[in-house]
Amino acid sequence: MTADAQQHDPAHASSRSQSKQKYSFNKLQKRLRRNVGKAIGDFGMIEDGDKVMVCLSGGKDSYTMLDILLFLKKIAPIHFDIIAVNLDQKQPGFPEHVLPEYLDGLGVEYRIVEEDTYSIVKDKIPEGKTTCSLCSRLRRGILYRTATELGATKIALGHHRDDMLETFFLNMFHGGKLKSMPPKLVSDDGKHIVIRPLAYCSESDIQRYSDKAAFPIIPCNLCGSQENLQRQNVKAMLQDWHRRFPGRIESMFRALQNVAPSHLIDSALYDFKGIETTGEAVEDGDTGFDPLSFTEPQVNASNNAINIVNVTDSLS
Ligand code: SF4
Repeated sequence: MTADAQQHDPAHASSRSQSKQKYSFNKLQKRLRRNVGKAIGDFGMIEDGDKVMVCLSGGKDSYTMLDILLFLKKIAPIHFDIIAVNLDQKQPGFPEHVLPEYLDGLGVEYRIVEEDTYSIVKDKIPEGKTTCSLCSRLRRGILYRTATELGATKIALGHHRDDMLETFFLNMFHGGKLKSMPPKLVSDDGKHIVIRPLAYCSESDIQRYSDKAAFPIIPCNLCGSQENLQRQNVKAMLQDWHRRFPGRIESMFRALQNVAPSHLIDSALYDFKGIETTGEAVEDGDTGFDPLSFTEPQVNASNNAINIVNVTDSLS
C-alpha cells in the first residue's frame, strides 16, 4: 500500500491513533511513577523492611496509589511489603465484591475491615448536616487500630497535590492557620507514621490515569452525604485560577516547599526579639526599600489570552 493510500485507509488511521494513545498513556504513567518515587525519596516515606498499609477506598486516588506502589516495590533497591486495607463502612449499596475481586486478581495481600460507621454517623448527625467529619474521625481510629493489628509501619493515604493546596486554603480562610496536609507525619495518636505518596501528583493526572486503567471505581456518595461545601468552594476557586492563570497552581505548590519564616509573622517560628545586626550582608535580609520584582501571569483583557509578563512594582 502506498503512503498516500495508507493515509486514507481507516484501519491504518485507527492503528495510528491507538499507538498515539498508548504513547501518551505511557508518558502519563512514567510521570506519575516518577512523582511518587521522588516524593518517597524526598521525605523518606518508605524504608527498608517497612510494611506499608495502603488505604484503599475504591476511588481513583487510592487505586492509583496502590498501582504505583506495587510497581515501585518491584523495582526498588530496598525491600518493603504492601498490604491493602479497605474499610467497609456498611453504606447502603456498597458493592462488597468489587475490591476483593480486584485485589485477588492482583495477587496482593489485603484485609477488608467491616465496621458499621454508617449507622453511627446517621444516628449522631442530624438530617441534612454534613456527616464527613465524624465519619472521617471514626474511620481514622479504625484504620489506626488495623495498622497496629497488622504490624504496619506506615499508613499510606491517597491524598494528592490538589488536596494539599485545598487544605492549605481551607486552613487559611476558615482556620486562621498556614497549614496544609503533610506528605509524612506521625498520626494524631502518636503511634503511626502516615505517608502521602501522591503528594507531587496532580489530580488531573490521577483522573486520566484512573480512566485509562479502568479501575473498578466505587462511587463515593453512597452514604448520601455531600462533599463539604467549603472544600467545594476552594476547589472551584483553584480550578478557576488554573484556567485563567496557567502555572499558578504549580507556583503555589512550590511555595509550600519554599517557606521563609523570617518573612512571616509567627514569632514562635522565628526569633524576632533576638535579631541583631552583624554589619555583614545577610542573605534573605529585608529589602523593603528596594523595588520588588516578580513574575506574574496576567490576563490579556482583550482576548482573555494569558501572557507571562515581568511586572516591576516600584515602591517609589
Ligand atoms: S462522603 Fe460519606 S463515607 Fe465519605 S467521608 Fe463523608 S460521610 Fe463518610
